[in-house]
Amino acid sequence: MQSQYFRKEVKTSDETAPRRVAVLGATGSIGGSALDVIAASGGRLTAAVLTAHRQTAKLAELTRRFHPEILVVTDPAADRAPLAELERTTRILYGPDGLDEAVSAPEIDVVLAAIVGGAGLRGSWRALETGKTLALANKESLVLAGSLLFDLARKTGGRILPVDSEHSAIWQALASCRPAVSPYGASVGSGESAGKDLVRRLILTASGGPFRNKSLDELERVTVAEALAHPTWKMGKKITIDSATMMNKAFEIIEARWLFDLPPEKIDVMIHPQSIIHSMVEFIDGAVLAQMGTPDMRLPIQLALFGMERRRCPSPSLDWSLARSLELFPPDEERFPAISLGRRVARDGGSAGAVVNAANEVAVAAFLAGKIPFHKITGICQSILDHHQFEQEPSLERLFELDRQARTETETWISD
Ligand code: NAD
Ligand code: MG
Repeated sequence: MQSQYFRKEVKTSDETAPRRVAVLGATGSIGGSALDVIAASGGRLTAAVLTAHRQTAKLAELTRRFHPEILVVTDPAADRAPLAELERTTRILYGPDGLDEAVSAPEIDVVLAAIVGGAGLRGSWRALETGKTLALANKESLVLAGSLLFDLARKTGGRILPVDSEHSAIWQALASCRPAVSPYGASVGSGESAGKDLVRRLILTASGGPFRNKSLDELERVTVAEALAHPTWKMGKKITIDSATMMNKAFEIIEARWLFDLPPEKIDVMIHPQSIIHSMVEFIDGAVLAQMGTPDMRLPIQLALFGMERRRCPSPSLDWSLARSLELFPPDEERFPAISLGRRVARDGGSAGAVVNAANEVAVAAFLAGKIPFHKITGICQSILDHHQFEQEPSLERLFELDRQARTETETWISD
């Protein structure tokens, strides 16, 4: 059934037909990079749906450039005035139901989940429920509900493709492992992956964030501005703070656990301040494959939107005329306890991810608002996790309930 919102013809089996992308979180950092990739795709990708939470003026500007068929403003209370003149030409939906409707439109081929935080789970869920390909930047979806999302994908035939740079690097390394007919033979880069029995370990790299050399004492005095000044990546505020606490890496361990179906013991983390090696896979024969490049999200986004097809990308290449050193060293888990917290959540599964994610979102917002010092963020998450009644197999509804409860508990904890 073709929905009324789309001007274009129904999808054909023609490989060159443009792939219609729903960009959830189009006004954010990943959203902007995705639109660059779409603009550079020579018509192979179109932005069919754009969503924003409150930035309606920016959404209007993007609409004039990309001509999507549907816009979604997820916060119904957002200022609607900037969109008024678009109403004649573009379908505009509001609130979470609007998001559900746009994501499940049959004409959408790929859903790019680039909303920040647990709020991104709803769109990821809807995409998989309708059997779509989910290009997943919103790692919180997997932290909250990794097991349920993969069960759902198995049922509906939906696919989850990584956008996070580390997981994209691992996906690329795994895809290179099938025997090829020639060095550039058909199976190279076809997106097929090695069996997981061939993998000895994954090595997630981490820049270490702005505070990688700070002592525990110094960490007690860092400011919001210092925490937001990431040395290598330019990203939204929440993930920038998560990188500074290394909760981002904790979430990436959980994300890798679900994406690649490996136990946390097989997922290591190495600090790599240059952010050139995006992650590595060690195989059972001892070979270690790394994927390298500039720290720019446009390549991983492009690979997910094109299903691992290699093509020119708008991100800059590495400059090989420069001498450079690539350092790798193990993280200090005493100064950055988030890493062991991530392993624990990856091992326990169940309700642990929803609780730790909710606590982290509230604690990060409190830090950004000047209510708590930086070094308390991870401790608060740990305490909220320790105090919650673990559940092994919560339903989606129960996870949303636990998410709400953990937010309230964390707010109370902070205000006490
Ligand atoms: P951002 O803050 O720049 O953008 C967030 C987007 O989500 C905006 O479009 C905003 O309007 C929308 N949004 C915010 N709150 C919402 C809500 N409650 N409901 C619906 N929409 C809402 O964030 P970002 O840096 O682009 O990150 C997006 C996601 O991608 C995060 O999950 C992050 O962990 C992940 N990610 C980001 C990067 C990066 O380089 N920025 C890299 C890897 C993964
Ligand atoms: Mg990452």
